[in-house]
Amino acid sequence: MSGVLDLSIPELADQVRSGRVSAEEVTLASLARIQQTHDLGAFLHVSREASLNAARRIDARRARGESLGVLAGVPISIKDALCTLDAPTTGGSRILTRQPEAAIDSSEAGAWCPPYDATVVERLRAADAVLVGKTNMDEFAMGSSNENSAFFPARNPWDPERTPGGSSGGSAVSVASGAVLGSLGSDTGGSVRQPAGLCGVVGVKPSYGRVSRYGLLAFASSLDQVGPMARDLRSAARLLEVIAGSDPRDSTSTRAPVGAYERACGEGVRGLRIGVPRQYFEDGLDPELRESTEAAIAALGKLGAELSEVDMPHTKYGVSTYYLLATAEASSNLSRYDGVRFGLRANGATPDIHAMYRATRGRGFGSEVKRRIMLGTYALSAGYYDAYYAKAQKVRTLILQDFERAFQSVDILATPISPVPAFRLGEKLHDPLSMYLADIYTLPASLAGVCGLTVPIGTTRARPDRPALPMGLQLMAAAQAEAVLFRAGAAWEAERPQRVLRPPELSPT
Ligand code: GLN
Repeated sequence: MSGVLDLSIPELADQVRSGRVSAEEVTLASLARIQQTHDLGAFLHVSREASLNAARRIDARRARGESLGVLAGVPISIKDALCTLDAPTTGGSRILTRQPEAAIDSSEAGAWCPPYDATVVERLRAADAVLVGKTNMDEFAMGSSNENSAFFPARNPWDPERTPGGSSGGSAVSVASGAVLGSLGSDTGGSVRQPAGLCGVVGVKPSYGRVSRYGLLAFASSLDQVGPMARDLRSAARLLEVIAGSDPRDSTSTRAPVGAYERACGEGVRGLRIGVPRQYFEDGLDPELRESTEAAIAALGKLGAELSEVDMPHTKYGVSTYYLLATAEASSNLSRYDGVRFGLRANGATPDIHAMYRATRGRGFGSEVKRRIMLGTYALSAGYYDAYYAKAQKVRTLILQDFERAFQSVDILATPISPVPAFRLGEKLHDPLSMYLADIYTLPASLAGVCGLTVPIGTTRARPDRPALPMGLQLMAAAQAEAVLFRAGAAWEAERPQRVLRPPELSPT
C-alpha cells in the first residue's frame, strides 16, 4: 500500500495543506490503487479526469497562497446513491441507464447524470476533498450483501469469495482495500454499519435528520441517512463534521448544532454509562462474535465506562417492522422511475403508456426491488393498511420507547453489529428471509432514528473453512448524541494493539 494512503484523514489533509505532498500525487496513488484492486468490484464509476482536475485546482490554490479546506486533497469515494454533477448516478440499478445491456462504465450505457450535486457532495467539495469515484451498491440500497447490484457484486478484501456486506458494500471495500481514505454510504437499516463491520472499518449512521438527504436517491425516506466510513474514528469524525448540519433543501434536517466529533475522539470513555441489551446476545449470534463483543465491552469498562445490563423487549420485532415500513415507503418512492423522467424507457408491445410503464419497470428493476415494491404496495393497500402498515407504525413507536427508556439510565448501548461474520457470496441470495434476518442488530436504531456506529474490534480466528474475518462492535446513542459514540469508539481504538485492521495481503510489508 502506498504511503500517503496509509495516513488518517486529518494527517493527510495536514500534509496537503502544508505542501508536503500534492493533491495530485495523492489522487494518482488512489487511482492506481483502485486499478490494482479492480477485481473487488468496489466501483461502478471511476472519475479519473475529474478527480485529477480537482486535485490540480487544489494544488494551484495552495501555490497561490490560499488556505485549503479540512479535507484538502483527501481521496473519497461516494456511494452511487448520491447525486454527483461530474459522474453518472445509477443507484446500482439498470433503470437509471439507457442501454441496460451495456457495461456500466461504458458511455453506451448512458447512465443518468444528475443536474446537481447532493448537499453532502457539495460540502465535501467545498472542504477540498477529491471525489475519485462512485461505489457499487445493492440496487436502490436494498440488500445486505451487495449481490443485488444490477451490475456485479462487490467482494470482501479479507476473502474475495465472501460478501463485504451491503448495501454500501462498494464503499466499505474501497476503504478497507486502501483505495480511498473515506467514503460516504447511506444507511436505511444498517447499510453503513453492517458493511463497515464485515470489512473491518469504521462506519457511522448519524441520527435521523443530522445529515441532509438532498440528492440521495430515496429508498425509505423516514429512515434514510447518509453516513461516513473510514479506517479510524478521527477520520470518520472529520467527515461527519463536514457533511452534517441543517440544509434548507431537506425539511427533515435538524437545526441542532453539529458536535465537535473529532475533539470528542480524545475525550475518553471515563464516566460514560454503557448499557448492554440482553436481547442482542440471544440465539443466532455466532459464539466467537459473542465472546469478542463481550470482551470489547469489558475493555471499555476497564477504561472507565460504567457497564450495566438493559432490557429492550421489542428488539425481536425490528426485522418485521422494518421490512413492512421500508418496503411501503420504497413502493411509493420508486414510482418515479416510470420511463418518462429518468433513464430507461422500454416501449413494450403496444404503444400505450401502461405498456411502456410495465416494460420499463419490468426490464429496469431487479428481482429484489420488484419483490419490495409488491410487498410495500400490498402493505399499503386498502383492507391491509391497518393490519400491516398501521400496525408496524405502532410497533415502531414501541421500539423507539425501548431506546428512550434505555437512554434514561445509560449514554450508550453496545451490541454486536451482525450475527455472523462475512458470509459467502451466494449463501443467502436465494433465501431473502435469511438475508433480512442478518439485519437484526442494525434495524432498531434506524427505526428509532438514533445514531450508531461500528468500530472494528479484531478478527475471528482463521479456521480450515474460512480465513480470519473482521468483527465489529456497534455503539448506539440518543438522537444528536454522536459525540459520545466517538468518545467511546476512539477510547477503544486507542487501546487496540493495531490501530486499524488491514486485510492480510494489504498489510504494509
Ligand atoms: N439491509 C437492509 C435492507 O435490505 C438495509 C439496507 C439499507 O440500510 N439501505 O433494506
